[in-house]
Amino acid sequence: MSGTNLTKRKRTDSGDGDASKDDNPTVTRSAEYWLEDGNIILQAENTQYRVHRSILSRQSTVFADMFSLPQPPEFGPGESLVDGCPVVHLQDSAEDVGNLLDLLYESISLQTIEGHISISVIRTMLRLGRKYDFKKLWDRGVSLLEHDYPYTLQKWDEKPKPLISDEPGVIFDVIAIAHENDIKSILPPAYLTMFLRNSLPDIRDGRERLQRLVKAIILDWLRDDELPRADCDSFDKCSAALMGKIKYLYGQDACKLLEYFAYRWDKAELGAGMCEECEIYGNAEYEEGRRILWYNCPQYFELDS
Ligand SMILES: [Zn+2]
Repeated sequence: MSGTNLTKRKRTDSGDGDASKDDNPTVTRSAEYWLEDGNIILQAENTQYRVHRSILSRQSTVFADMFSLPQPPEFGPGESLVDGCPVVHLQDSAEDVGNLLDLLYESISLQTIEGHISISVIRTMLRLGRKYDFKKLWDRGVSLLEHDYPYTLQKWDEKPKPLISDEPGVIFDVIAIAHENDIKSILPPAYLTMFLRNSLPDIRDGRERLQRLVKAIILDWLRDDELPRADCDSFDKCSAALMGKIKYLYGQDACKLLEYFAYRWDKAELGAGMCEECEIYGNAEYEEGRRILWYNCPQYFELDS
């Protein structure tokens, strides 16, 4: 893996208050992960973790390669050890490394109870999974996101029970994580979710664009020359119903319009007042519009490059 940033610096357990010019002179030992038979010390920010090389090597090719290197000169004479263990300084947050160790040691169940996986854990799976090639963690992180933000309209319509816990603003984290890790498949459903839930000024532009597309693509059937149908048995009634719908649907606010993208044909609302032939045609055109918009969402949001 390129771009890994493992550094090994000389330093001692810092309680001695020596002349270290380090930015963060106070180092604390993790209460949870200071394992007596650990043989490697990871340090992230100011926290040290005493863990096992074998546990890390088993799932990460990057750690496996690192530990397979001859120990000197990195850990050779003159290198300060902590409790007899070499120290690996990671350029990762303590939150990420804590999550990582929870995943490796506590085996956080990924077939977990609905809504209980924190987005922070998913971020760690992807960020560290990619950086250190923890392949299983990466794969599971992606599949968890794809479960909650499915990339097919069919799966979206099945409304899977979320596995990721619904913390405030979680959708913004999901989108940021998807961009950070180049997981484009989840972006259309993630953006749709964001627009459904939020009305913040900074998402107004994207929402308005989607609103225009809903009118142009999904509600286009209202103005279709094929309606009323040739075999319509209540032409005047259906014409009047269509006129009423155009007036009603095009006057809806942005949030309401997005529902026509997010949700399937609602016969009681959209099909009201029309004969069966016209209703069936409208339904089919509407669903086709949803499929087209869904399929093209990445390019509408300039995500495909
Ligand atoms: Zn009709």
